[in-house]
Amino acid sequence: MSRAFNFSAGPATLPEPVLRQAQAEMLEWRDARASLVELSHRGAEFIEVAQQAEADLRRLLSIPADYAVLFLQGGATAQQALIPLNFAEPGQAADYVLSGHWGKTAVKQARPYVDVRIAASSEAGGFRDIPPREAWTLTPGAAYVHITANETIHGVEFRGAPEVGEVPLVADFSSSIASEPIDVSRYGVIYAGAQKNLGPVGITVVIVRRDLLERAGQPRADIFDYRSHARSESMLNTPPTWNWYVLGLTVKWMLDEGGVEEFARRNARKAAMLYEVIDGSGGFYRNEVAPHARSRMNVPFFLREEALDKLFLAESKAAGLLALKGHRALGGMRASIYNAMPEEGVRALAEFMRDFQRRHG
Ligand SMILES: *Cc1c(COP(=O)(O)O)cnc(C)c1O
Repeated sequence: MSRAFNFSAGPATLPEPVLRQAQAEMLEWRDARASLVELSHRGAEFIEVAQQAEADLRRLLSIPADYAVLFLQGGATAQQALIPLNFAEPGQAADYVLSGHWGKTAVKQARPYVDVRIAASSEAGGFRDIPPREAWTLTPGAAYVHITANETIHGVEFRGAPEVGEVPLVADFSSSIASEPIDVSRYGVIYAGAQKNLGPVGITVVIVRRDLLERAGQPRADIFDYRSHARSESMLNTPPTWNWYVLGLTVKWMLDEGGVEEFARRNARKAAMLYEVIDGSGGFYRNEVAPHARSRMNVPFFLREEALDKLFLAESKAAGLLALKGHRALGGMRASIYNAMPEEGVRALAEFMRDFQRRHG
């Protein structure tokens, strides 16, 4: 059996060359006579791997020098709690813009530490759009404004950074980092769990403007302090070395493939293929997100007849198209088409969808 096309939302498909290299290097790291996974994180071998990964990520995302890059554990969810602890004073207001499920988890994690203000929300409309910027109510003196750049479950994506004035913009980029060029300087903090578009689960990237690290924040343990992580180059305690290494391979692969400009082109073509099938299906398939806010990374869709869901999943799986079941919060289907999903995989899915409609429509 060969590898299928895997549309999982995360952990998600990785580039095959990355998996092959990781496999080839698993048993013995160069001339170390041990696996990288068995070596000290403070040894020369791993330090080199870690520094190369950071340098490559800085190049891939054009991260300016006045931003620190942290490699942390706890996933995006832990950062959602650490952000108010590090950047807001006790009881200070922070603005949250909700465009889907993950914005709500950010609020849930922040609530114990900060005066959460919902500056805008598209929840009343079922999270099918980005709340229009004119309708946001920003709080004067807020610690930051938090957005979710791409809502992985609802399939709603910001196009570019919204204007929020002097207040730092904090953005959860877990499911769209490196999918297109971004202007990092528009953000105070960018964070992303790696398991969607950057590599394996178990490591999270936090890109933070260095002046924000001077903020007092709130009483917190050293291990929850971004400043301490920055000072110790993310080696305050034992980092997830293997995950860091595979992230580095994935980033290197993205650079070799042509960088974020090239992925922006591929991702636009991939998303267009699926939305065309959906919109051209005469209602057999539907995606209800406002076209200008549709995600290029996660394409949720529903079949007109829910009774066909099981058959769709069984037949797609048999055709080598995996993990198309939608998130339980929404039902229906979802195709996650991150950088590592080749265009031929999306073409195969589009053809399967047309064929399925011909047979069952
Ligand atoms: C997956 C995801 C999360 C949660 O990530 P964890 O690593 O499970 O904490 C948060 N935000 C977004 C946008 C996601 O896609």
